[in-house]
Amino acid sequence: MTYKKKIPKLVKLQFKMMQLQDELFEANETLRAIRSGEVDALVVNGKNGDQIFTLKNADQPYRILVETMNEGAATLDNEGSIFYCNKRFADVLATQMDAIIGTSIFQFIKFDEQKKFQEVFSNGKNGISSGTFLFENKLGSSVPLYISMSYAEIDGKEGVCIIATDLTQQIRFKEYEVLAKELEKAVIARDEFISIASHELKTPLTTLMLQSQMQNRWISKNDPRAYGETRVKAIAEQTERMAEKLNRLIEDMLDISRIKTGKISIHKEDIDLAKLTEEILERMQPQFISSGSGIPIANLSPALGKWDVLRIEQVITNLFNNAIKYGRGLPIEVTVCANENFARISIKDQGIGIPKEEQHKIFGQFERTANSGSISGLGLGLYISQQIVEAHGGKISVESIKGIGSTFTVELPIYPN
Ligand code: ADP
Repeated sequence: MTYKKKIPKLVKLQFKMMQLQDELFEANETLRAIRSGEVDALVVNGKNGDQIFTLKNADQPYRILVETMNEGAATLDNEGSIFYCNKRFADVLATQMDAIIGTSIFQFIKFDEQKKFQEVFSNGKNGISSGTFLFENKLGSSVPLYISMSYAEIDGKEGVCIIATDLTQQIRFKEYEVLAKELEKAVIARDEFISIASHELKTPLTTLMLQSQMQNRWISKNDPRAYGETRVKAIAEQTERMAEKLNRLIEDMLDISRIKTGKISIHKEDIDLAKLTEEILERMQPQFISSGSGIPIANLSPALGKWDVLRIEQVITNLFNNAIKYGRGLPIEVTVCANENFARISIKDQGIGIPKEEQHKIFGQFERTANSGSISGLGLGLYISQQIVEAHGGKISVESIKGIGSTFTVELPIYPN
């Protein structure tokens, strides 16, 4: 005899409910996977056997595009909270996608840039806007991002879509480009300087060498011309002039390296600019006379102040030397005057002049005008003079007309700091 145990109805119902719950869970899980893009296709068991339904809908190409593009992309709500971002956006901010979503974009923007970002963000909420901002990533590094924003409706709410382009490489590349150009210029300037400097140093040396060779020849032949008073005096004077020229060139080069290393020092003492100018005029008398311009016409009023006497002398001597060199042997004028704040010295020549378009550059290092032609020079005197004058809190300027002449003016504060 068989014995059949009767299963209570309630237990049957409970069993059925559990089955339905499992099916519901499975359906929910499938829906979630479909929504999140984890599933590409479904196999459905039907009357005709297993059927494959692919889920590659119209969204997929866009999803791939957004996830693989090199720009960061994110959607924000009206307050700036991040709804969604792609991996690139998270990478730029050196953080995980799930650590960004739900947080405010403002936390990644540098403090000084927040106001500007807020403005661009407000415009973005109303249409389209863009700007470049410094973000700070989770590692504490600054990241320059070009952000373009546009209004978007996200899940029925108003928001903003942003595309972020990392400008780090571009900025670095531009910096390298500028640096490379500067280096190239520096190399050209250095080569030019070496060739001009060696020429400038060689000229007085060659004169000295020729002179002493000739003198030696005469001495060895017991030629009385070697001992004539005029001859000996001329040699002594020329030797002194050449030695002075060499000394000035070497001093200029040393000054350049002093300026570069910030070692140009100023020792102030009480001076009268008019008296100092008079002394320089006296000392340079032979040069003025031999140039043909004659002793300069001088209008010198007392101008007392506290300056570095040697350095100011260097500036004035340089301006006189230039007036001689570029002055075509025509008269030179010098004026010294002062008011309660400034002392001023102006040196005016009637020489070759400086074309207007070149006037701004002559105070630069190694800069010479095209019309200087065969007149010798290193292009350093005015650069050094400007450094000295500026170290005194003063300024140096030029007014000039090509073919008519130039006036260089130095203004020095009477009470420098
Ligand atoms: P250098 O005379 O040794 O070349 P400077 O720095 O003193 O160097 O002058 C720079 C350039 O400015 C000169 O090469 C010349 O072209 C121009 N310059 C300076 N002074 C005068 C001047 N008085 N008249 C015309 N050109 C001048």
